[in-house]
Amino acid sequence: MSTAKGEILIIEDEGAIAEIVVDYLKRDGFDTEHRVDGNEVQSLIATGRFALILLDVMLPGADGFELCRAIRKVSAIPIIMMTARVEEIDRLIGLELGADDYVCKPFSPREVVARVKAVLRRHSPGESLKQADSLPLEIDQDSFVLRLYGKKIDLTPSEFKLVAALGAKPGRVWSRAQLLDVFLGEKDVFDRTIDSHIKNIRKKIAQYFPDLDLIQSVYGIGYRLEL
Ligand code: CA
Repeated sequence: MSTAKGEILIIEDEGAIAEIVVDYLKRDGFDTEHRVDGNEVQSLIATGRFALILLDVMLPGADGFELCRAIRKVSAIPIIMMTARVEEIDRLIGLELGADDYVCKPFSPREVVARVKAVLRRHSPGESLKQADSLPLEIDQDSFVLRLYGKKIDLTPSEFKLVAALGAKPGRVWSRAQLLDVFLGEKDVFDRTIDSHIKNIRKKIAQYFPDLDLIQSVYGIGYRLEL
């Protein structure tokens, strides 16, 4: 029987890591099922028991990338990838695998639980309806206007383009290189330009919402927008 919080499927071959993740999720009220490989993932998903999958990348047999692609062919279930290697992070960002988020090892189990909750929130139909009612973030592509909780934030065209790119997929991590693509065809735009635009956007948002961490830095990679 699954709780109201839903059951989390953990596919992780390292017992110690799985154990601590299971432990923290249970403490937070989640039911869990742990598997050391993805052999039965399709039939497990088909049971409809699971609200989310935590999927390790390096696994015996089919790896996390293959599994993620295979799962996406049959299910929209939220997937958070777990990875230990920087090269894998590049692949996670670069490929359209269909994963919803990822966490880097070594991670704090609290961070994993927080990411699980954030992804579930994004996927909860009730929550998205609520969001649609209050519209915390409005990005008007036609008038280049950004509104946060109804407050108009004055941005330059470059800043607006960045927010629009980040906001197109909330929660997704963008590398600086990917954000630079937003400015393709424009001269003199470098990695550091992205950082300084982000800094200015944050300042403008902080004038109205000093505690809102809308655009988050992802260490060593880039940025993500999350409400
Ligand atoms: Ca592993």
